[in-house]
Amino acid sequence: MAQQLSTKAGDHVIQSKSVLAAETLNNFMFTKQMTCYFCGGFYGPCFGEPACATCHAFLFPEDINLTDEDIPFADKSEDGDSGNDEPTDFYYEMIKKEPRIVIPSTKSDKLAERITALTTIRDKDCVPEGLVELLPPEVLLIVFSYLDDISLWSVSQVCKRWRHLLESWTTEDQWRLYTQRRWPLFHPAFRVQSWSTLYTKLLESSPCKLCLQQMSIQTQPPAEENSWRRNRLRNELKSLRSDPPEGIEATPLDRMCCHWLAAITGPAGSPYEGGNFYLYLQIPNSYPMRPPVVRFITRILHPNISRHGDIGLDSIHHNWSLALTISKVLISIQSLLTDPYCSVCMEPEVGALYHDNLPLFDQIARLWTWKFAMNDYILPTKHLDEFWRSISR
Ligand SMILES: [Zn+2]
Ligand SMILES: [Zn+2]
Repeated sequence: MAQQLSTKAGDHVIQSKSVLAAETLNNFMFTKQMTCYFCGGFYGPCFGEPACATCHAFLFPEDINLTDEDIPFADKSEDGDSGNDEPTDFYYEMIKKEPRIVIPSTKSDKLAERITALTTIRDKDCVPEGLVELLPPEVLLIVFSYLDDISLWSVSQVCKRWRHLLESWTTEDQWRLYTQRRWPLFHPAFRVQSWSTLYTKLLESSPCKLCLQQMSIQTQPPAEENSWRRNRLRNELKSLRSDPPEGIEATPLDRMCCHWLAAITGPAGSPYEGGNFYLYLQIPNSYPMRPPVVRFITRILHPNISRHGDIGLDSIHHNWSLALTISKVLISIQSLLTDPYCSVCMEPEVGALYHDNLPLFDQIARLWTWKFAMNDYILPTKHLDEFWRSISR
């Protein structure tokens, strides 16, 4: 009896520990992030995103080709040590023919812009207080008409007046177009009642709005595309369309195939089952010499995926090989979902939870899947929000 009691007491301790862990994780990911995770607010406010604009420009550049200058093996070919690796030889033949274009510091160099803004003393804002509030709707609507979808959505979050103004001005059809343009792989299973609500859901399911904005800017490489890259991507796209791997979809967003959207279905038996996770891929100009940059744009709780959506998979970093393709990369990400690798974690807290309390990890990861990755299947209704609030309490 005594033993039973002590076990019960022990259970209670474990349970309260679990509740504590759950609360920690809820706070860690669900509430808006108050300061930049990387600089702790040193370089400016982060407005609820994981990184402030300065850290973001430094760590996740808009134009990945700006850092793409030092192509590996470059010195080798100079020495004549090109080996028997045909693609490498081919690549050098090609870059020898094409004059190297020096990349000027273009307007896409957000980091330089940010540093200048941080180091220049700004004149005091010369807008008289209350002027913006007094602007008539006609003027505000003209200003709004110049905004892209994310900025427009952000405007709707500023105050009730602006939200009502936008609600009366924008149409559901407009939000449908915005949604389909940004998430072309989104296939609703039911008739969508409100596209603007759905757009909000998809936007809020993303770990970083700055990345979403980068997707639509679609910076293009400054140099001409090389034929090796073009042919290879054409073949990859053909096989992705004719014989897609199970639970994987990918589509380029621009003509040069620099920006892609991919979707991975959560593997059966994993806590991600039933979820549809979107990824954003940037294909460098030197692809396939360099790996693509791949990132989740749907929140996911996983030891090897950071709060910003970055993936700790060595094959897309230092272990990249020419034999890998976009499709193979997506397949390895899909299998990483079933088998996390806990020795090296992107989020040590999540890794520790996975290691110490697998049932709780599974439970929270599943809740995340329901909340963020099932927008295709569940209508975003008031009832669902209430349901979510009741179970996360
Ligand atoms: Zn920062
Ligand atoms: Zn980002």
